[in-house]
Amino acid sequence: MTGYVIAPPPIASVAVEGSADRFAVRRIFCVGRNYAEHAREMGGDPAAEPPFFFTKPADAVVASGAHVPYPTATADLHHEAELVVALGKDGSAVSAEQALDLVWGYAAGNDLTRRDLQAAAKAARRPWDMSKGFDASAVVGALRPAAAGTPTGRIRCYVDGVLTQDADLAEMIWPVAGIIAHLSQLVALRAGDLIFTGTPAGVGPIARGQCCEVVIDGLQPATVHIV
Ligand code: MN
Repeated sequence: MTGYVIAPPPIASVAVEGSADRFAVRRIFCVGRNYAEHAREMGGDPAAEPPFFFTKPADAVVASGAHVPYPTATADLHHEAELVVALGKDGSAVSAEQALDLVWGYAAGNDLTRRDLQAAAKAARRPWDMSKGFDASAVVGALRPAAAGTPTGRIRCYVDGVLTQDADLAEMIWPVAGIIAHLSQLVALRAGDLIFTGTPAGVGPIARGQCCEVVIDGLQPATVHIV
């Protein structure tokens, strides 16, 4: 019988609302610039271009309520409040009409970002991996099953109780179905994949010692304490 030369890594996972069972995470995809006001605040043009994607490692996932050390190699850690979609079925080249059939559930999330490293990467035309895909960079609240309905309403972010981001999910340039349809043209989507769907305007810093909370109507909050 064959085995592994090292112990297999643990399976990254996310909590499920009202259940002791967990959602096993395979990959984490993220959409850039999916709200017009945020695209403008980052110096872009929100005119309808196809969505673009970047990734984080599955084990970057952090449960709501966690205490996370201020990341190394940055002096400008930013929050990005986002709706997170969790896929429960596989799919390639799916249409927007079929796309929501792949969704297992939804959660509030925070796409933690080393903004200074991202700005340097953009200026040098280098990859974003170390500005986006660092350890503990993907805060995800408890998943609500899609059967409970597609989230609508406000998405907000608070830093130490101060409102920093406040938008409506309907302001997304690419809605969830369109994101899934586009991404499924680029990779074979699989059950276990998470998709961060982009952040509205108002991104900003989180200092050591602060608490950042992402609140989406109908979902449990995604909270992180930076220590
Ligand atoms: Mn983001």
